[in-house]
Amino acid sequence: MQLSQRITTLLGDGDDGWGVFYRARAMKAAGREVIELTIGEHDIRTDRSILDAMHGAALAGHTGYASIPGIPALRDAVAARVQARTGVPTARENVLITPGGQAGLFATHHACADPGDTALYVDPAYVTYPGVLRALGLVPRAVGARPEDGFQPRAGDLDAAVRAAHRPRSLLVNSPNNPTGGVYSPATLEGIARVVQEHDLWLISDEVYDTQVWDGDHLSPRALPGMAERTLVIGSMSKSHAMTGSRIGWILGPEAAIMRLADLATHTTYGVPGFVQEAALFALAQGDGLETAVAAPFLRRRDMALEVLGRQNIVRVQPPQGAMYLMLDIRGTGMSGEAFAMALLERHGIAVMPGESFGAAAAGHIRVAMTVADEVFVEALGRLLAFAQEQAALAA
Ligand code: PMP
Repeated sequence: MQLSQRITTLLGDGDDGWGVFYRARAMKAAGREVIELTIGEHDIRTDRSILDAMHGAALAGHTGYASIPGIPALRDAVAARVQARTGVPTARENVLITPGGQAGLFATHHACADPGDTALYVDPAYVTYPGVLRALGLVPRAVGARPEDGFQPRAGDLDAAVRAAHRPRSLLVNSPNNPTGGVYSPATLEGIARVVQEHDLWLISDEVYDTQVWDGDHLSPRALPGMAERTLVIGSMSKSHAMTGSRIGWILGPEAAIMRLADLATHTTYGVPGFVQEAALFALAQGDGLETAVAAPFLRRRDMALEVLGRQNIVRVQPPQGAMYLMLDIRGTGMSGEAFAMALLERHGIAVMPGESFGAAAAGHIRVAMTVADEVFVEALGRLLAFAQEQAALAA
């Protein structure tokens, strides 16, 4: 039987950019030692107190269907948190609880655009973005950010891409950014806001790394003048509270959009388990302390990495301002990100993601997830740099 175009073309050209990751897993399964610096998953597990809250909620009977837009107390807690952090008036009606940020990415695009419409996003981008758009029958249009700009998108580039697009409806941005570790400056965010307002687009703002900002505070474009009415924010407990497996996040937006998104949830996810929502409510009630503790290893490793990287000049880095990744420029080796990552894995048992997996703009780069213990991380980085030095000498 034939499957739909939308599902069979979800991965585009068929390469989902995870070749190195799968190869690393296969090598591990075959008994080889591999240091995985690939996916964005903490090396700690969900805090015991959150699990206790989840367990307690389940035992107390929260195992039936839960309220589909989210339990009122959790929607209120998310609204209060967002209002306190951004200053934007936010109420329960502006919040939909979702099974993670990924579901939020899908639902928001479903809400903003119809099949055949163009959905724009900034390249380099989180790997699932183009697939989400294709799964919805949208036309993905990547707008390249440039390494020399620290991967901050230029308003002029965004504007030109929107003008050239067929039925443009939305722009998806992500700050703090995966894969670059960049945080958009106020000027970048203002440029983005100008472009979406001028072209009457929705802005979809993926802010799942909002608690991992190393210099200054997180800035949400929803807080800029005139933006709350056209912005849908994706939030998640995955990164902030090390709850990746619990599958819980949210969408923030205008009440009318959230009502429609709740209709979509009724016909897709049917909500998020009540005991998971109760656990999230408990976790949010713990305040900043737990979030800071969850984020701390990445800040610490970023500083360690900058020190190690500072001792050489073959591999260059944009000092990451947030999230759990380093984007390293390995063009000095003469290799592509893909060739470098594969060779590093085969010869040294270190798995990183090729920049190319995240789009053409990150060619000649690799993404290193800072998600292993400090000593292992520094050791792996040292071996990576020695390998880069060797390759650069060969290429010279
Ligand atoms: N957006 C970005 C930028 C991500 O890196 C991730 C996860 N790696 C997600 C969204 C999805 O996260 P989750 O579904 O776990 O909330």
